[in-house]
Amino acid sequence: MDWTELRGRFFLPEGVIYLDGNSLGPLPKAAAERVRQTIEDDWGKLLIRGWNEGAGGAGWMGWPTRLGDRIGRLIGAAPRTVTTGDTLSIKVYQALASALHLAGDRRVVLSDSGNFPSDLYMAQGLISTLGQGFELRTVAPEAIEGALTDDVAVLMLTQVDYRTGRLHDMAALTAAAKRKGILTVWDLAHSAGAHEVDLTGAGADFAVGCTYKYLNAGPGAPAFIYVREGLHDAVRPALSGWLGHAAPFAFDLDYAPGDGIERMRVGTPPVLQLAALDAALDIWDEVDMPALRARSLELSDRFLDAVTRACPDLMPALVPGVPRGSQVSLRHPDGYAIVQALIARGVIGDFRAPDILRFGFTPLFLSEADVDAAVGHIREVMDQGEYRRPEFAIRRRVT
Ligand SMILES: *Cc1c(COP(=O)(O)O)cnc(C)c1O
Repeated sequence: MDWTELRGRFFLPEGVIYLDGNSLGPLPKAAAERVRQTIEDDWGKLLIRGWNEGAGGAGWMGWPTRLGDRIGRLIGAAPRTVTTGDTLSIKVYQALASALHLAGDRRVVLSDSGNFPSDLYMAQGLISTLGQGFELRTVAPEAIEGALTDDVAVLMLTQVDYRTGRLHDMAALTAAAKRKGILTVWDLAHSAGAHEVDLTGAGADFAVGCTYKYLNAGPGAPAFIYVREGLHDAVRPALSGWLGHAAPFAFDLDYAPGDGIERMRVGTPPVLQLAALDAALDIWDEVDMPALRARSLELSDRFLDAVTRACPDLMPALVPGVPRGSQVSLRHPDGYAIVQALIARGVIGDFRAPDILRFGFTPLFLSEADVDAAVGHIREVMDQGEYRRPEFAIRRRVT
């Protein structure tokens, strides 16, 4: 892979070392152009005809599942098993609701304390809406395997812990769940575009993820949802919107689920965001995922080694040997202020309460030189106590 050439495909502001592509990917140059084209040529000239005739085949109406297929290649999903739309929180709700509908007599949803709160909140909201006695059980990430008991209906996990970067073994946990008759819902928010994923090989039942993190489709870009092919006919969508109907333009008064993955669509797709996603995925078509994973570990190991040697006060969030995704997390009681001081120097990472400094490593646009320069800045911020300046203590709305 020619990493230097790929870096040239992104707008990266002068003087910025961007270690936050795990939270919001940078702008692919082609996305800016594609969105402009979609606005001017498609929306501007086709008007409502765009739903049938918009660029890319099958009109705008076909885009959510066409782009689902493109994402599918990155996560080991067969064609027509992934569709896009809505936000990740909504896709979590849809996937879990579908799984619970297939749950039989079991009443426990098992997750871990490293899951992203929105996933847990959606589960809590769904459980209370259903009123069927379901219970959300949340254990420590290391305790999941032992918690796969006979009362568990659904195992709902985010593969990479957003805070520490800890990586669950999807194949092993899915296999263990299957042996106990437990359905699986995997959240790939920090996996898709970060490392290899093989949903088909693992036998996962449901998966969801977002496209604005490693996939670089822009703020507010739509989420994706995967349903294992064997479940397509059994899945009853809880969010039964008209575009998941078998015949939306028959305007029947009663809902009938659409064919296969199409039933996981809800309402009108966000065409401009999908245009950005389409362009962002052009880059991914050229990426070899095992090579990306190797490079991501090379860069992040280099960072972790250098930063812990230079700044012994910054403690790794994971003990050595625990597998991690494409991020490095460090702990410090003044983590928030340190991150703010780094941002002021153009080194952009982020902070996750209570004490985590989080740095994403994305081979598409980062190099050894970026890693080394970032470590140099961190050392200066720590050695000179720069982070103690009062302006870095001011908490902003988004951390
Ligand atoms: C980023 C993230 C979300 C965010 O959900 P949105 O609905 O897109 O705001 C949810 N879950 C996980 C695991 C995430 O990492």
